[in-house]
Amino acid sequence: MRKKLVVGNWKMNMTRAQAKAAVESLVQLVDPKTEVEVAICPPFLSIESVVTVFSGTPFQVGAQDVFWMPSGAFTGCVSTSMLADAGCELCIVGHSETRGRFGKLEVPATTVAYFAESDETVNLKIKALLAQSIRPILCVGETLEERNEGRTDEVIAAQLKGAFVGITAADYKAGVVAYEPVWAIGTGKTCDNAEANRVCGFIREQLRAILDASTADSIRILYGGSVKPSNAKDLFAQPEIDGGLVGGASLDPKDFSEVIQGA
Ligand code: PEP
Repeated sequence: MRKKLVVGNWKMNMTRAQAKAAVESLVQLVDPKTEVEVAICPPFLSIESVVTVFSGTPFQVGAQDVFWMPSGAFTGCVSTSMLADAGCELCIVGHSETRGRFGKLEVPATTVAYFAESDETVNLKIKALLAQSIRPILCVGETLEERNEGRTDEVIAAQLKGAFVGITAADYKAGVVAYEPVWAIGTGKTCDNAEANRVCGFIREQLRAILDASTADSIRILYGGSVKPSNAKDLFAQPEIDGGLVGGASLDPKDFSEVIQGA
């Protein structure tokens, strides 16, 4: 049986002091013997603060993004070895926001090209992370327009195919995939339980074909998109949903602990 995994994505929130206070509360609220695997992905600058508080606990720390080159003239970028050195065990890749696909647009539409991650860069990042033994959390999902056009499965299949070019089943054994419908991220709209379960099952089918059946059966497939204490339990009870990638509700330690409880 796959162990549930709940990951908090703090996005661009929390100073170092706020991060420290939030995870100090979280470790008080969540039983370290919980059956659920728990991780937080803070902004780069707060990673060290969270790693320090989580030291000696089973809780893990991840990053929200990475650059694929090992070092060099790449202003503003962070490498996989820097993440490993800071204590990161996981890293989100291909989040809809880094792909420039927003459920709720808070920047002018003309600047969206700044967030221009493609399936090709996602693939390069996954390869770089695996070489550093950092577990990728690959995000895939459709926009509202793509859903309304009946293209959900086609879009997700293409994202998976692009992400896994040159990656074998053995490479991705410890990796994670998250189904994150773009229209449900930060919008308060949650995907219906049955549909979220169906799409996660569809992702597993694709992974069977791209990797192999036993690896696909062991990979955790998370649901993300407005997960909160009131809906976590029902979403996580779906057979194909192995936990959640949680944005807004992970910022409040009490809410996040209740989401973990739901798993
Ligand atoms: C996310 O950032 O991956 C996410 C799912 O955000 P939220 O829970 O706020 O919708």
